[in-house]
Amino acid sequence: MLPLIEDRISQGLFTQILTVNPLMLEASMKDPLLAEIFNMSDFCIPESTGMGFIAKIKGFPLQETIPGIDLMLKLCSLAAQKKWSAALIGGAPGIAEAAGRNLRNMCPGLELAGTVHGYHTAAEEARELEKVFALKPKFVFAALGVPRQEKWIYRHKDKLAGAAALGIGGSLDVLSGKISRAPLWMRRAGLEWLYRTLRQPWRIVRVAKTFKAVFLAITTPIS
Ligand code: UDP
Repeated sequence: MLPLIEDRISQGLFTQILTVNPLMLEASMKDPLLAEIFNMSDFCIPESTGMGFIAKIKGFPLQETIPGIDLMLKLCSLAAQKKWSAALIGGAPGIAEAAGRNLRNMCPGLELAGTVHGYHTAAEEARELEKVFALKPKFVFAALGVPRQEKWIYRHKDKLAGAAALGIGGSLDVLSGKISRAPLWMRRAGLEWLYRTLRQPWRIVRVAKTFKAVFLAITTPIS
Protein backbone atom coordinates (compact mmCIF):
# COMPACT_ATOMS: atom_id res chain seq x y z
CA MET A 1 0.00 0.00 0.00
CA LEU A 2 2.79 2.51 0.84
CA PRO A 3 4.28 2.27 -2.69
CA LEU A 4 0.81 2.94 -4.15
CA ILE A 5 0.37 6.03 -1.96
CA GLU A 6 3.88 7.20 -2.84
CA ASP A 7 3.09 6.75 -6.51
CA ARG A 8 -0.13 8.78 -6.32
CA ILE A 9 1.65 11.62 -4.52
CA SER A 10 4.43 11.61 -7.11
CA GLN A 11 1.77 11.92 -9.83
CA GLY A 12 0.26 14.96 -8.07
CA LEU A 13 -3.00 13.17 -7.22
CA PHE A 14 -5.11 13.79 -4.13
CA THR A 15 -5.47 10.66 -1.99
CA GLN A 16 -7.99 10.16 0.81
CA ILE A 17 -7.23 7.29 3.14
CA LEU A 18 -9.92 6.05 5.54
CA THR A 19 -8.84 4.25 8.68
CA VAL A 20 -12.00 2.28 9.31
CA ASN A 21 -13.45 1.10 12.61
CA PRO A 22 -16.89 -0.45 13.32
CA LEU A 23 -18.39 2.87 14.53
CA MET A 24 -17.48 4.52 11.25
CA LEU A 25 -18.94 1.62 9.32
CA GLU A 26 -22.22 1.96 11.23
CA ALA A 27 -22.25 5.76 10.91
CA SER A 28 -21.88 5.46 7.13
CA MET A 29 -25.19 3.53 7.00
CA LYS A 30 -27.05 6.57 8.33
CA ASP A 31 -24.94 9.41 6.97
CA PRO A 32 -25.10 9.80 3.18
CA LEU A 33 -22.06 12.11 3.04
CA LEU A 34 -19.94 9.63 5.00
CA ALA A 35 -21.18 6.84 2.71
CA GLU A 36 -20.13 8.95 -0.29
CA ILE A 37 -16.70 9.46 1.28
CA PHE A 38 -16.36 5.68 1.74
CA ASN A 39 -17.16 5.20 -1.95
CA MET A 40 -14.84 7.95 -3.14
CA SER A 41 -11.87 7.28 -0.85
CA ASP A 42 -8.77 5.79 -2.41
CA PHE A 43 -7.88 3.44 0.45
CA CYS A 44 -10.00 1.95 3.27
CA ILE A 45 -7.65 0.57 5.91
CA PRO A 46 -9.23 -1.51 8.72
CA GLU A 47 -7.77 -0.10 11.90
CA SER A 48 -9.17 -1.88 14.91
CA THR A 49 -9.67 -5.22 16.62
CA GLY A 50 -13.41 -4.89 15.92
CA MET A 51 -12.77 -4.75 12.17
CA GLY A 52 -10.57 -7.86 12.40
CA PHE A 53 -13.38 -9.66 14.24
CA ILE A 54 -16.01 -8.63 11.66
CA ALA A 55 -13.75 -9.77 8.80
CA LYS A 56 -13.17 -13.15 10.49
CA ILE A 57 -16.87 -13.84 11.08
CA LYS A 58 -17.87 -12.65 7.62
CA GLY A 59 -15.06 -14.59 5.96
CA PHE A 60 -13.32 -11.59 4.42
CA PRO A 61 -9.67 -12.28 3.54
CA LEU A 62 -8.21 -9.59 5.79
CA GLN A 63 -4.45 -9.92 6.26
CA GLU A 64 -4.01 -7.37 9.04
CA THR A 65 -5.44 -4.34 10.77
CA ILE A 66 -3.28 -1.25 11.23
CA PRO A 67 -4.07 1.26 13.98
CA GLY A 68 -4.32 4.78 12.51
CA ILE A 69 -1.40 6.00 14.62
CA ASP A 70 0.88 3.25 13.23
CA LEU A 71 -0.13 4.06 9.67
CA MET A 72 0.59 7.72 10.39
CA LEU A 73 4.07 6.86 11.69
CA LYS A 74 4.79 4.81 8.56
CA LEU A 75 3.70 7.74 6.38
CA CYS A 76 5.83 10.16 8.43
CA SER A 77 8.87 7.93 7.91
CA LEU A 78 8.15 7.95 4.17
CA ALA A 79 7.76 11.75 4.28
CA ALA A 80 11.11 12.15 6.05
CA GLN A 81 12.82 9.85 3.57
CA LYS A 82 11.36 11.65 0.53
CA LYS A 83 11.76 15.15 2.06
CA TRP A 84 7.99 15.62 1.78
CA SER A 85 6.32 17.87 4.35
CA ALA A 86 3.39 17.00 6.59
CA ALA A 87 0.67 19.15 8.18
CA LEU A 88 -1.03 18.40 11.48
CA ILE A 89 -4.63 19.56 11.84
CA GLY A 90 -6.75 19.31 15.00
CA GLY A 91 -6.37 18.64 18.69
CA ALA A 92 -6.48 21.17 21.51
CA PRO A 93 -4.27 24.29 21.24
CA GLY A 94 -0.59 23.34 21.64
CA ILE A 95 -1.13 19.61 21.09
CA ALA A 96 -0.21 19.48 17.38
CA GLU A 97 2.99 21.50 18.04
CA ALA A 98 4.04 19.12 20.83
CA ALA A 99 3.16 16.10 18.68
CA GLY A 100 5.16 17.64 15.82
CA ARG A 101 8.26 18.03 18.02
CA ASN A 102 8.06 14.39 19.08
CA LEU A 103 7.36 13.22 15.53
CA ARG A 104 10.48 15.00 14.30
CA ASN A 105 12.49 13.09 16.92
CA MET A 106 10.91 9.81 15.86
CA CYS A 107 11.32 10.48 12.13
CA PRO A 108 14.53 12.51 11.73
CA GLY A 109 14.37 14.85 8.75
CA LEU A 110 10.57 15.19 8.86
CA GLU A 111 9.48 18.66 7.75
CA LEU A 112 6.26 20.15 9.10
CA ALA A 113 4.20 22.38 6.83
CA GLY A 114 2.33 23.79 9.82
CA THR A 115 -0.15 22.96 12.49
CA VAL A 116 -3.72 24.20 13.01
CA HIS A 117 -5.57 23.33 16.21
CA GLY A 118 -9.12 22.01 16.09
CA TYR A 119 -10.93 24.66 18.11
CA HIS A 120 -10.73 27.75 15.88
CA THR A 121 -13.79 29.65 14.69
CA ALA A 122 -14.55 28.97 11.03
CA ALA A 123 -13.01 32.31 9.97
CA GLU A 124 -9.82 31.77 12.03
CA GLU A 125 -9.51 28.23 10.71
CA ALA A 126 -9.80 29.39 7.10
CA ARG A 127 -7.04 31.97 7.69
CA GLU A 128 -4.72 29.44 9.32
CA LEU A 129 -5.39 26.83 6.66
CA GLU A 130 -4.50 29.18 3.81
CA LYS A 131 -0.96 29.39 5.25
CA VAL A 132 -0.70 25.60 5.48
CA PHE A 133 -2.16 24.92 2.01
CA ALA A 134 0.26 27.46 0.49
CA LEU A 135 3.14 25.22 1.65
CA LYS A 136 1.65 22.29 -0.31
CA PRO A 137 2.11 19.52 2.29
CA LYS A 138 2.28 16.01 0.87
CA PHE A 139 0.68 14.49 3.95
CA VAL A 140 -2.21 15.95 5.93
CA PHE A 141 -3.16 14.32 9.21
CA ALA A 142 -6.55 15.43 10.55
CA ALA A 143 -7.28 14.81 14.24
CA LEU A 144 -10.82 16.12 14.60
CA GLY A 145 -12.71 12.94 15.57
CA VAL A 146 -14.88 10.73 13.32
CA PRO A 147 -16.66 11.70 11.06
CA ARG A 148 -15.68 15.37 11.23
CA GLN A 149 -12.08 14.67 10.16
CA GLU A 150 -13.13 12.56 7.14
CA LYS A 151 -15.60 15.27 6.06
CA TRP A 152 -12.98 17.98 6.62
CA ILE A 153 -10.54 16.18 4.31
CA TYR A 154 -13.22 15.57 1.67
CA ARG A 155 -14.31 19.23 1.77
CA HIS A 156 -10.74 20.45 1.25
CA LYS A 157 -9.71 17.93 -1.42
CA ASP A 158 -9.41 20.57 -4.15
CA LYS A 159 -6.81 22.41 -2.09
CA LEU A 160 -4.93 19.18 -1.44
CA ALA A 161 -3.83 18.11 -4.91
CA GLY A 162 -0.72 15.96 -4.60
CA ALA A 163 -1.38 15.26 -0.92
CA ALA A 164 -2.43 12.11 0.91
CA ALA A 165 -4.78 12.82 3.82
CA LEU A 166 -6.15 10.69 6.62
CA GLY A 167 -8.11 11.04 9.83
CA ILE A 168 -6.14 10.07 12.91
CA GLY A 169 -8.63 10.56 15.79
CA GLY A 170 -6.82 11.03 19.10
CA SER A 171 -3.33 10.23 17.73
CA LEU A 172 -1.97 13.75 18.26
CA ASP A 173 -2.93 13.49 21.95
CA VAL A 174 -0.81 10.32 22.14
CA LEU A 175 2.10 11.69 20.10
CA SER A 176 2.16 14.90 22.15
CA GLY A 177 2.59 12.82 25.30
CA LYS A 178 -0.74 14.04 26.75
CA ILE A 179 -2.03 10.48 26.87
CA SER A 180 0.06 7.34 26.85
CA ARG A 181 -0.23 4.45 24.45
CA ALA A 182 -1.01 0.90 25.52
CA PRO A 183 2.04 -1.33 26.19
CA LEU A 184 3.14 -3.42 23.22
CA TRP A 185 1.76 -6.68 24.63
CA MET A 186 -1.73 -5.15 24.86
CA ARG A 187 -1.48 -3.77 21.31
CA ARG A 188 -0.36 -7.17 20.03
CA ALA A 189 -3.27 -8.81 21.85
CA GLY A 190 -5.71 -6.34 20.23
CA LEU A 191 -6.45 -4.75 23.60
CA GLU A 192 -5.52 -1.13 22.93
CA TRP A 193 -9.21 -0.19 23.28
CA LEU A 194 -9.23 -1.69 26.81
CA TYR A 195 -6.16 0.31 27.84
CA ARG A 196 -7.67 3.55 26.52
CA THR A 197 -10.92 2.85 28.37
CA LEU A 198 -9.09 2.20 31.65
CA ARG A 199 -7.20 5.50 31.23
CA GLN A 200 -10.24 7.47 30.00
CA PRO A 201 -13.26 5.76 31.67
CA TRP A 202 -15.78 7.99 29.83
CA ARG A 203 -14.83 6.04 26.68
CA ILE A 204 -16.89 3.11 28.02
CA VAL A 205 -19.86 4.57 26.12
CA ARG A 206 -17.83 4.35 22.93
CA VAL A 207 -16.86 0.74 23.69
CA ALA A 208 -20.53 -0.17 24.19
CA LYS A 209 -21.42 1.51 20.88
CA THR A 210 -18.56 -0.35 19.19
CA PHE A 211 -19.85 -3.72 20.44
CA LYS A 212 -23.28 -2.81 19.04
CA ALA A 213 -21.72 -1.76 15.71
CA VAL A 214 -19.77 -5.04 15.49
CA PHE A 215 -22.96 -7.00 16.20
CA LEU A 216 -24.82 -5.03 13.50
CA ALA A 217 -22.04 -5.57 10.99
CA ILE A 218 -21.95 -9.33 11.48
CA THR A 219 -25.75 -9.73 11.44
CA THR A 220 -26.43 -7.46 8.44
CA PRO A 221 -26.43 -9.39 5.17
CA ILE A 222 -23.99 -8.10 2.56
CA SER A 223 -25.90 -6.49 -0.30
N1 UDP B 1 -11.03 17.50 18.32
C1 UDP B 1 -10.77 18.72 17.74
N2 UDP B 1 -11.82 19.57 17.54
C2 UDP B 1 -13.08 19.26 17.88
C3 UDP B 1 -13.34 17.99 18.44
C4 UDP B 1 -12.28 17.11 18.66
O1 UDP B 1 -9.63 19.03 17.42
O2 UDP B 1 -13.98 20.07 17.66
C5 UDP B 1 -9.90 16.59 18.56
C6 UDP B 1 -9.72 16.22 20.02
O3 UDP B 1 -8.96 17.22 20.69
C7 UDP B 1 -8.98 14.89 19.90
C8 UDP B 1 -9.48 14.32 18.57
O4 UDP B 1 -10.18 15.38 17.92
O5 UDP B 1 -7.59 15.13 19.80
C9 UDP B 1 -10.47 13.16 18.70
O6 UDP B 1 -9.96 12.23 19.56
P1 UDP B 1 -10.74 10.90 19.97
O7 UDP B 1 -9.88 10.18 20.93
O8 UDP B 1 -12.17 11.20 20.36
O9 UDP B 1 -10.79 10.17 18.56
P2 UDP B 1 -10.87 8.65 18.26
O10 UDP B 1 -9.46 8.17 18.15
O11 UDP B 1 -11.60 8.03 19.41
O12 UDP B 1 -11.63 8.65 16.96
